[in-house]
Amino acid sequence: MRRDADEPLRADHPPRLRRRRVALTHVDAVGSARVHELGPVVEDEEGSVRLARLAERLRGRDQLVVAELLVAELHDVDAAAQRRVEQRSRIALVRPRLDDEVEARAGETRATVGCVHAPEASGAITIRPEAGARAGRAERAAARAADRQNLIRVIPAKGGPGAVSADSRADLAVVGGGIVGLACAWRAARTGLRVEVVERGEPGRGATHAAAGILAPDTEAEPGAATLAALGRRSLELWPAFAEDLERESGREVGFARCGTLVVALDRDELDVVRREHDVLARMGLEAQLLSGSECRKLEPGLAPVCAGGLLAAHEAQVDPRRVVAALVDALVAAGGVLRTDAEAVGLVREGDGVRGVVLADGSRVAAERVLLAGGAWSGRNGLAPVPLPVRPVKGQVVRLRAPADELPAERMIRSEHVYVVPRASGEVVVGATTEERGFDTAVTAGGVLELLREAYRALPEIAELELVEVTAGLRPGSPDNGPLLGETGVDGLLVASGHYRNGILLTPVTAEAIEALVAGTPPPEAVEPFSPRRFA
Ligand SMILES: Cc1cc2nc3c(=O)[nH]c(=O)nc-3n(C[C@H](O)[C@H](O)[C@H](O)COP(=O)(O)OP(=O)(O)OC[C@H]3O[C@@H](n4cnc5c(N)ncnc54)[C@H](O)[C@@H]3O)c2cc1C
Repeated sequence: MRRDADEPLRADHPPRLRRRRVALTHVDAVGSARVHELGPVVEDEEGSVRLARLAERLRGRDQLVVAELLVAELHDVDAAAQRRVEQRSRIALVRPRLDDEVEARAGETRATVGCVHAPEASGAITIRPEAGARAGRAERAAARAADRQNLIRVIPAKGGPGAVSADSRADLAVVGGGIVGLACAWRAARTGLRVEVVERGEPGRGATHAAAGILAPDTEAEPGAATLAALGRRSLELWPAFAEDLERESGREVGFARCGTLVVALDRDELDVVRREHDVLARMGLEAQLLSGSECRKLEPGLAPVCAGGLLAAHEAQVDPRRVVAALVDALVAAGGVLRTDAEAVGLVREGDGVRGVVLADGSRVAAERVLLAGGAWSGRNGLAPVPLPVRPVKGQVVRLRAPADELPAERMIRSEHVYVVPRASGEVVVGATTEERGFDTAVTAGGVLELLREAYRALPEIAELELVEVTAGLRPGSPDNGPLLGETGVDGLLVASGHYRNGILLTPVTAEAIEALVAGTPPPEAVEPFSPRRFA
């Protein structure tokens, strides 16, 4: 049976198609090594990207014959089970070598190697129904073409059978290719330093992949967290120039838009909370304007009639984190930097009391004057740092919907007490996010999705009409005081940029500015001082 790619998935279909032969017209990303295990609607974010290349090859066939496992209804998907299957059957596809990008490290004595840990399980899961997605398919094809372009400029994966290890040398080695590591690397590479990023998977597939991209230092500010709000404000000030430079140097758009945030109250109790929030923000000197329900609905006619009032922060903005990552990869390479994918750092090269590089899982090394740890939620876990890095994972589930670009449910970012909705000019509408302390678990749950959609619907009933395209879980790098860990660790040659928790996208420019300054030996911005990693020593 051939399923039309434009046929909508309906939750009211009875479970069907089990034990029949099914031909798919389109498989976007496939998370399994064997054809009979192909899962058309479930994608393991970190695992499936590697496996997508297998899917690319398979896609060339006239039909993919799939037995047993086609699950047509979203409610019929056991994402966690699927992920377990995927993790058991990883495929190592070794990219062609680009020898001239690797500077051999001949004749160097081997220094002490730090401790080793087992590779992480995958970080997040995406559920992507295939319903009616012609435009989405074109976007994905463009993204795949862009990915292929990136492949010619990144150092190949190593560690597969028969793969050859290669040492290299840099001024700055960065562990982690999320938005934070890539941004710091790009800024350092622009100053003429030799920079190498090691990323154990694909760049930007950690928390950054899940993030909504809200740049909201004021409406996200917690009471008593004035220094963090000041850091966020400084970073928001930097965002326009950061985005402009990045777009110019990469040739890619990053979706920066100063669309504003409207915090809405949907009943009397929520109105009390919004009023208190306004008072707190005013006391912290932050900007937000109190509005009545009718004023809110005048600004955003799609709001539910129950809207009782709100708080407008017109200066707040958004960016598309996935586009930022794609741009950072290109800009980094254009600036002469190197990105190694599928390269896990498992130890540090020690010289005396200092750190002089990283050791990768395949035994190769990147010798470097300085190492920046930017491993997101894994920064505290991977045992690389010889100092305490109290970073923990905080799970967040997020739903992506698609609207016709001229029929967005709102112009501004809408936030209620329980949910936010971020409409993008592209037609993407992000609904987020849960906050869960569940260790490194990244299962997408029915309860999480239900809560997000119910609360988004309460605020903006029109979202019920939108296409559901993706559900993702990511791990925020949380810290004990919710502030990032930025700067010198106290160990010679070792820097850290992690623990950005729920504001890592917002804080990217100021983080990159701080690391660039430290590497250049100039003072970092004042706003960064309270966030030294040494406060946890
Ligand atoms: C659902 C959700 C919504 C969010 N929304 C927003 C938002 O709207 N605005 C905002 O400002 N922030 C938001 N955040 C927070 C933001 O996403 C994070 O703070 C930010 O992405 C952290 O970036 P990072 O580069 O430090 O971490 P990550 O993006 O997680 O990247 C870390 C990278 O390091 C790699 N790595 C780890 N260990 C190693 C190793 N040993 N060797 C090699 N590589 C390694 C990982 O594979 C990963 O790619 C959100 C987060 C979530 C989960």
